[in-house]
Amino acid sequence: MERIYVFDTTLRDGEQVPGCQLNTIEKIEVARALEELGVDVIEAGFPVSSPGDFNSVLEISKAVTWPVICALTRAVKKDIEVASEALKYAKRKRIHTGIGTSDPHIKYKFNSNREEILERAVKAVKYARNFVDDVEFYAEDAGRTENEYLARVVQAVIDAGATVVNIPDTTGYCFPDEYGAKIKYLIDHVDMKNAILSTHCHQDLGMATANTISGIINGARQVEVTINGVGERAGNTPLEEVVMALKSHPERGYYTNINTQKNLRYQPFGVKPDEHAGTTQQSHCWSQCLCPFLGNPSGRGAEKRRNLRDHQSPRCGNRQQLHCTNSAQWPCSIEKQINDAGGKNRNGRAG
Ligand SMILES: [Zn+2]
Repeated sequence: MERIYVFDTTLRDGEQVPGCQLNTIEKIEVARALEELGVDVIEAGFPVSSPGDFNSVLEISKAVTWPVICALTRAVKKDIEVASEALKYAKRKRIHTGIGTSDPHIKYKFNSNREEILERAVKAVKYARNFVDDVEFYAEDAGRTENEYLARVVQAVIDAGATVVNIPDTTGYCFPDEYGAKIKYLIDHVDMKNAILSTHCHQDLGMATANTISGIINGARQVEVTINGVGERAGNTPLEEVVMALKSHPERGYYTNINTQKNLRYQPFGVKPDEHAGTTQQSHCWSQCLCPFLGNPSGRGAEKRRNLRDHQSPRCGNRQQLHCTNSAQWPCSIEKQINDAGGKNRNGRAG
């Protein structure tokens, strides 16, 4: 059996959903629940983006013991210095740095060229390695990056000391066979040394879980996911779907550290967690302790939102209703069109 590492970005990518902002106390509670669930890495925030994010990473680092605490940065010195400072209390720490590698990103976001981007990527990884031993690199918009150039970038950052390389389908653009082929191309063309590849998929076309599984089958050993798939635009890959897909198919030979027996799941139909977990219908019936904060359908399609509104329960409390109200007002389809047109993240954040 091969171990698949679960990297939860509910508190970073997930929190970029409008109406889902959590304060530090709430984030600590979610981080503790994630630790209890058995996630390997908690992406706790983007410290340079705001004092609130900095403080959350600092406090989560104190509150959590086992998971690696990860902080996001751009390929910018100052970001990396601030991230390192925010991680100072973490028992196990990782800096997640990176830069856009697709031609649209290189041309329109950075007004640059491929060689310069490659150089900046290597510099960022080397600089981050001065502060921590564990550095993950993200090739933003890897989904739309030509494989040959992507392989050069991946090789260069691994040679520079990256321990994990994240291959994000930032715009949720890829088909599963295409995303899997990209991972396979990298495995076949890069000397990975001890590094691993990570998936990071988005739900814009409803294929985040399929793409993630395809990535695993083709050699990725870390998956970036969020609880219930919350995340920017149509959302991220749902943790529960990937974990239960692997668990339901032991013949495929993969396992995670997630404790699916733990009575964390919400059980509206009186069914034992494992009997229904991971199916589409039940994918919003998630961790009971996360429910008050993240019983938030914002990241999913309109149908899911409607389901969740129907599914209001005393256990979810007012907070969920608040989220439902917010998300109902959120012009999801318009955002999708903007994304289709520009191919850029709504607020310019990475990942
Ligand atoms: Zn993302």
